[in-house]
Amino acid sequence: MNIGILNLQGAVSEHYNITKKAIKNMGIDADVKTVRYAEDVAKCNALIISGGESTVIGKLIAVRGIDKVIKEKNIPVFGTCAGMVLLGKKTDFDQPLLGIMDISVKRNSYGRQKDSFETSIQIFGSEYPGVFIRAPSLEGYDKSKDDIKVLSRFEGKIIAIQQGSNIALSFHPELTEDTSIHEYFIREVLNSS
Ligand code: GLN
Repeated sequence: MNIGILNLQGAVSEHYNITKKAIKNMGIDADVKTVRYAEDVAKCNALIISGGESTVIGKLIAVRGIDKVIKEKNIPVFGTCAGMVLLGKKTDFDQPLLGIMDISVKRNSYGRQKDSFETSIQIFGSEYPGVFIRAPSLEGYDKSKDDIKVLSRFEGKIIAIQQGSNIALSFHPELTEDTSIHEYFIREVLNSS
């Protein structure tokens, strides 16, 4: 298995490190690489899109043709924060999106940078340290799709959602020591292939 961490902008090295740690914990044979171009993404069986600035990342994805590769090869994507924005079909901004999940996303849903916060959230029946930095939340999702699963809510807002093997989170698991969500994504990809 080849896991790519999209290295265009944002919290890339943190995702790289925690993905390595997740693989080690799981005892599986997988390779993690940071990827910048469509031809590198094409070699991945799974891709992680970090937090950062979704407009910048989205423009580079489009200019480099990375969106086409992801769609043609049906590469599962795990998107955190800005990554969640990019996975959606719609946001409250006019910006290029991947649009591979039937969700609509509200950017900066909790306010500005100074309103960023850490809190304990619930996911997979356990407590998880939720780090929210100018985080988006889910405006809505297509309830007619039976492959969509809400994974977590916080104060009534959806903060984690899955469609097929694609997973979108409002928060930043890569800024914690907890590998459980990365492990979950990797397992979902392995189970679906
Ligand atoms: N607010 C950013 C955006 O919408 C996301 C912030 C983040 O990834 N920490 O692009």
